[in-house]
Amino acid sequence: MSAHPAGIQQIVSCVDGYDPEALHVDKARAAIRACLVPVTQTERVAVRAALGRVLAEEIVPAIDVPGHDNSAMDGYAVRAADLRADAEVSLAQIGSALAGRPFDGAVGPGQCVRVMTGAVMPHGTDTVVIQEVVRAAGERIAIPAGQRAGQNVRAAGEDLKAGVAVLGPGRALRAAELGLIASLGIGEVRVRRRLRVAFFSTGDELASVGAPLKAGEIYDSNRYTLHGMLARLGVEVSDLGVVRDEPAALEAAFRKAAAAADAIVTTGGVSVGEADFVRQLMGRLGEVLFWKIAMRPGRPMAFGRIGGAFLFGLPGNPVAVMVTFYQFVREALLLMAGRTGDCAPPLLRVPAAQPLRKVPGRTEYQRGILYQENGEWRARTTGQQGSGVLRSMAEANCFIVLEHERGAVKAGEPVSVQLFEALT
Ligand code: AMP
Ligand code: MG
Repeated sequence: MSAHPAGIQQIVSCVDGYDPEALHVDKARAAIRACLVPVTQTERVAVRAALGRVLAEEIVPAIDVPGHDNSAMDGYAVRAADLRADAEVSLAQIGSALAGRPFDGAVGPGQCVRVMTGAVMPHGTDTVVIQEVVRAAGERIAIPAGQRAGQNVRAAGEDLKAGVAVLGPGRALRAAELGLIASLGIGEVRVRRRLRVAFFSTGDELASVGAPLKAGEIYDSNRYTLHGMLARLGVEVSDLGVVRDEPAALEAAFRKAAAAADAIVTTGGVSVGEADFVRQLMGRLGEVLFWKIAMRPGRPMAFGRIGGAFLFGLPGNPVAVMVTFYQFVREALLLMAGRTGDCAPPLLRVPAAQPLRKVPGRTEYQRGILYQENGEWRARTTGQQGSGVLRSMAEANCFIVLEHERGAVKAGEPVSVQLFEALT
């Protein structure tokens, strides 16, 4: 990963409305976007292994898909010129064609061929009449009036055309893209190399799963949520464990992470009180900015660069970690991985099922449940919204996003929701 030529401070201060003490979420996103540098290295992988990767080449079909005009239905391939708009006609069936078993001969006036779905259209035919409407008596096939010329035929190249680029660099490869590439007979594609992300938790109070809790300790859950969120993005993860709030241990962790990764994600240690000592350390190791973002939960966040790696210093509270990850880090990592275009999930507008407390001047991400009542979708909250209540994330299926300027919401007013899961 090559370092950006200009300093981070210099870049972000050019973002209109940049205010590190009360940063609008949109400005924080813009500031991050302005600094990021995508990975440039690529590799060739088998099509199946390309799932979730970012395409690094243009896919230009060498063949048409489908390769031939073919039948879209089971029925009879006929010549439209033989048909009558106002009367039934009788044709002679001279053979049959199946998918993968074409009819070899030519079809002349007054003749037809039995065809199954996917069969290549026999020479001379241009229209398919579905089997349900004909009357067959031996080799004589009666075709009713009122057929449309060209009906029930899939044209060669109607899916993909030889020579016309179908996918370009920056595209995420999902199931559909894998199939599309395979339909062209292509077995390997060039993709960006996977983004490497190192992460660790900080805090003297943290115990690792498996160890008994000492007085005042809590189990480190953030590393598990981070693992889950990162793994779902398809990045290569490196878990550096729990790091004590000690300068030497933290410095070693940061150096190790920066040497091996394109991005570092940490939790804890960025809130006021802890910030001074972490700030000094991060400042010495690289260029790191401490932001107070106008949002809830997740107000404090650090962003910067240590060596060749971008740093996302997330708050320690378990819900704040997830919200700041989904609202800032997710998009940043996708862009670093080479994705182009809009990576943000859509916001849907639905009525609020209940009144919602909200003060203007910050964006709130309430944990919500999108549900259906009498055929209409609406959103309610999961209840208690404390940033330490991780259960609220587990119960939710969406964020209810309450915009910066917005005040209290009345029941029935439209709110924006961001779904956690959708088809991929
Ligand atoms: P901090 O941002 O370090 O001040 O932490 C804020 C709150 O989040 C404190 O209550 C911490 O105990 C808690 N916390 C910090 N790190 C973790 C973690 N890895 N897992 C669970 N809770 C954490
Ligand atoms: Mg801490």
